[in-house]
Amino acid sequence: MKLVFLGVGDAFDERRGNTSIAVISETKLLLDCGYLAPKAIWRQFPDPNFFDAIYLSHLHGDHTFGIPPYLTRLWLDGRTKPLKIIANPEVIEKLPAIIDLAYPGIQKDFQYEVEFIQANLDGSVLLNELELTFAPTVHPVLNYAIRVSTGDLALCYSGDGQITKEAKQLYADADWLIQESFTLEPDPKLQMHGNVRDTIEVAEACGIGNIALTHVERKLRDRANEVESFAKEIAQYANIYLPDPDDELTIEDS
Ligand SMILES: [Zn+2]
Ligand SMILES: [Zn+2]
Repeated sequence: MKLVFLGVGDAFDERRGNTSIAVISETKLLLDCGYLAPKAIWRQFPDPNFFDAIYLSHLHGDHTFGIPPYLTRLWLDGRTKPLKIIANPEVIEKLPAIIDLAYPGIQKDFQYEVEFIQANLDGSVLLNELELTFAPTVHPVLNYAIRVSTGDLALCYSGDGQITKEAKQLYADADWLIQESFTLEPDPKLQMHGNVRDTIEVAEACGIGNIALTHVERKLRDRANEVESFAKEIAQYANIYLPDPDDELTIEDS
């Protein structure tokens, strides 16, 4: 399985874009599509039929508001293949209106079918060879972390928010965790975000050997050396990775 980090930034990072990741196996799955994401997707994956499905973790603009332009250009570029959009109930309920607000009436012109699939906490979504399962985090809007499994390989992505006990269960024994880590230490004023310390401690307790820190607060992320040396001090055994936009990674069962 290959990962392409299209963007790795917090909500308002002009250099690193919105956190958005392409998961490429037989099936092509895009994780999140915020308002800064389409430019990177168009550049990296110009084929309108490339992605089979998009997973949206939550309704915030830096994770979802790229959908209206992205879907519209798929139509203009001649997409014919149905597209699955998988997301929690809040996103599924509100997304059609968001597309309509951006480009009124456009959805009826699309020449490809958009299938909205609701992610539920008590079941999985099967996407060809990929099995998708979900867990809530603590965030101002409903956010589901996702686990993408195929064979013995499992990748987890947090979306945004503090890690819950349900998320820990979701993450258990995964090979890779891509985790929103806004600050270095837990911050009582930022109860709705993850942090580097919790990310590493939780991941290692879950038996995860590879961690990608994303959505780091932009001014902190400018000081990459500080983030990396802090992470190294905490990590007992995990490999810590601070991705940059356009980074590609081949991941294997570990
Ligand atoms: Zn965000
Ligand atoms: Zn958010």
